[in-house]
Amino acid sequence: MIPETVGSLIAQKYKSAKENDHLHFIETESKAIKDNDSGMNFVISYTPSLLKKPERADAQKDGTDPFEKPEPELTILEDLNEDGQFKLLLNKFPVIANHTLLVTKEFKHQNTALTPPELMVAYKLLCTLDKTESKRHMVFYNSGPQSGSSQDHKHLQMLALPEDFVPFQDNLCAGKPHFLPDFKTEPLQDDKVSFAHYVLPMPEDSDSVDEDLMAMCYISLLQRALTFFQDWTNEKPNMEKSYNFLLTKKWICLIPRSRTQAESLEIGFNAVGYAGLVLVKKEDVFQKITEKPELINDVLLECGFPNTAGTKPTEYHY
Ligand code: AMP
Repeated sequence: MIPETVGSLIAQKYKSAKENDHLHFIETESKAIKDNDSGMNFVISYTPSLLKKPERADAQKDGTDPFEKPEPELTILEDLNEDGQFKLLLNKFPVIANHTLLVTKEFKHQNTALTPPELMVAYKLLCTLDKTESKRHMVFYNSGPQSGSSQDHKHLQMLALPEDFVPFQDNLCAGKPHFLPDFKTEPLQDDKVSFAHYVLPMPEDSDSVDEDLMAMCYISLLQRALTFFQDWTNEKPNMEKSYNFLLTKKWICLIPRSRTQAESLEIGFNAVGYAGLVLVKKEDVFQKITEKPELINDVLLECGFPNTAGTKPTEYHY
């Protein structure tokens, strides 16, 4: 069982870690903008502190696993679900207060698919925090070399969404009941958005969500992403499978990824970018995209794949 007090445990730990310099956080400027072409809302944060954050290459050079023996000052719970499977840590380089990591106790690789218990504990954590903290939360998982992940030890991440922020997935799912895709019904995809994304509304009644349902949702979306990689093997034969997974109480979403960093603009993304929370390290890039929000959809596409809304699956698909 996840303790009902998990939200206050996170907040207390975060406060003392921040006061005692156990984590590195600076956020200088955030701006809410809308791209009228795609209808996507964005919060753009100019965050020079990200320059201090280890990138995948730095983390690999270092070779150590920061999640094997995490710093006690960053450890919120040694055994989150009292089943010996997960620990809950603070992110050492948070982009937002209370940014939390849900880490497997035993080493598993970040390239492995999410298991039903991993999906379920993430969902339960969301339910507990949304109820007790009166904020909406999002869990995300960056998997594969082009997904924007930097650590190989399996970890999901969790943060509160900015107040009143409406990710495009909310509008896509608004008023739609939960369903599972099949041969005739594809996951939802907004045809105004540039990049491929697969979304399912979650059931309104959280009591009806169990491991089986979570697994069916996730696998059906992952299957679409795998089909996507299969379709692209001629053009990009050495492509490694990478994707971002995003989960809120309202929807579940998967984004196939082609690259971490855009070339046209000095900017990179992990899962949060594909919810509309864009982190920028360079001031000139911040200026450019706040003046011209349509640019963000171009770079999100550059790091993903083209939208496939309306495309019918064929017999060759997974
Ligand atoms: P990702 O980059 O998606 O693989 O997520 C890994 C996260 O772990 C990053 O957001 C880092 O900020 C964070 N991180 C790196 N080193 C540590 C550490 N020693 N303790 C806690 N979090 C860390």
